[in-house]
Amino acid sequence: MKVLALDFDGVISDSAPECFWVAVRTLERVRPGSLDASRLERWGAMSGLEARAAIQADPLFTGFLEIMPLGNRAEDFGVALLALEAGETIEEQSDYDRWFAEQDPDFTEAFHRYFYDERARLRDVSEEDWGQLMSPYDELVELLRRRRGACEVVIATAKDRDAVTRLLDRFAVTDVLAPDRIYDKEWGRDKQAHIRAVQSDFDVPFEEITFIDDKANHLASVAVLGARCVLAAWGYNAEREHEQARGRGFAVSGLDELEAVLFE
Ligand SMILES: [Mg+2]
Repeated sequence: MKVLALDFDGVISDSAPECFWVAVRTLERVRPGSLDASRLERWGAMSGLEARAAIQADPLFTGFLEIMPLGNRAEDFGVALLALEAGETIEEQSDYDRWFAEQDPDFTEAFHRYFYDERARLRDVSEEDWGQLMSPYDELVELLRRRRGACEVVIATAKDRDAVTRLLDRFAVTDVLAPDRIYDKEWGRDKQAHIRAVQSDFDVPFEEITFIDDKANHLASVAVLGARCVLAAWGYNAEREHEQARGRGFAVSGLDELEAVLFE
């Protein structure tokens, strides 16, 4: 392996509490009264760290984490929240797709439009508190430090460069995850374009690139290039996704076994 390409959310950064808060804010803006919005006030009165803990203890967050792997875009967070509020049983992709199809397209369009605006507003309230909602996966960072120099490390993300750069700085991990190695959302939604650019920039065969993502469909689009693909079992997925990934021939790794999966 010459290059290790890492997804950001759900691989480097545990961002789910932040995502959940932004999703609840967006839902309250697009369809007020859908949820008990008093939680927004409670979280808003807390420090970022306190809010993160409160969100992790929210039963709605647990359900949100279970549905999250079935969606891909910002509006999926809103559709997931509506399913939880309605008490819908969402176990399989087909359950989710059916529920999504029942939603008003004006709702999903508005949710998508306002989600990023709500994220910016939340960050603008206090960048410090906002940053505390996210944290790096420490075991991954430690592994990268132990193996520094063993390969090039890049980030392939659907987030924007500015946000990722700020978070890397906040996480104090720029010694192993350099901001100039970010392939961001400008490369497209599909990770294939990111990995093509990596291949070209580093001038290595695809077979020498290992790509880690917590979404199996992102792995699938990269695997056709010939890169090695690993599903991050520590990210936003569950046994359902692990089985699907193995069925498609991808390695599935937890943080405790990652070093062996990558280097042995
Ligand atoms: Mg991810």
